[in-house]
Amino acid sequence: MIISKKKPFEEILEDLEGDKKIVILGCGECATATRTGGEPEVAEMKAALEAEGKAVVFTEVVHTGCHELDVKRILRVNKEAVDQADAILVLSCGAGTQAARAASDKHVVPGCDPLFLGNIQRSMDFLEKCSTVGPA
Ligand code: SF4
Repeated sequence: MIISKKKPFEEILEDLEGDKKIVILGCGECATATRTGGEPEVAEMKAALEAEGKAVVFTEVVHTGCHELDVKRILRVNKEAVDQADAILVLSCGAGTQAARAASDKHVVPGCDPLFLGNIQRSMDFLEKCSTVGPA
C-alpha cells in the first residue's frame, strides 16, 4: 500500500486559492489505513475548509481512489453537485489525484504527500518496502 502523510493545511489553502466551491474525495483503501483520507479526515477537511469560507458541495470516500472508472462513475452520478465545484481536493496518493484528473476537467488538488510503498505491521505502523514514490 502507498503510505502518505497529510499536506500542511496552509499549502492546501494556497493551492485552492480562488476556488470557492470544493469537492473532497477520499480513498477507502491505503488513505483510510494511513488516516490521511478516510471518512474522519474528509469530515475534518470539510470543516476546516468551511471555517475558511469555502463551500464544500460534495464529499465521498471512494472505495479505491485509483479506480478511474469508479471515480468517473461517482462524479457522474453526483453531477449536479460536482458541476458547481471550482476544484476537487483529493485526500489520497498521487494515483488517486490522477484518477480524479482523468475523470474531470476541474482544478484537481492533491491533499496528501505520498511517502513510500509499505506493508502494514499493525495499526499505523508501516514498514517501507519500496521508495518508488515520494512527495508530490
Ligand atoms: S488511490 Fe492511492 S491511496 Fe488510494 S488505494 Fe489507490 S494507491 Fe492506495
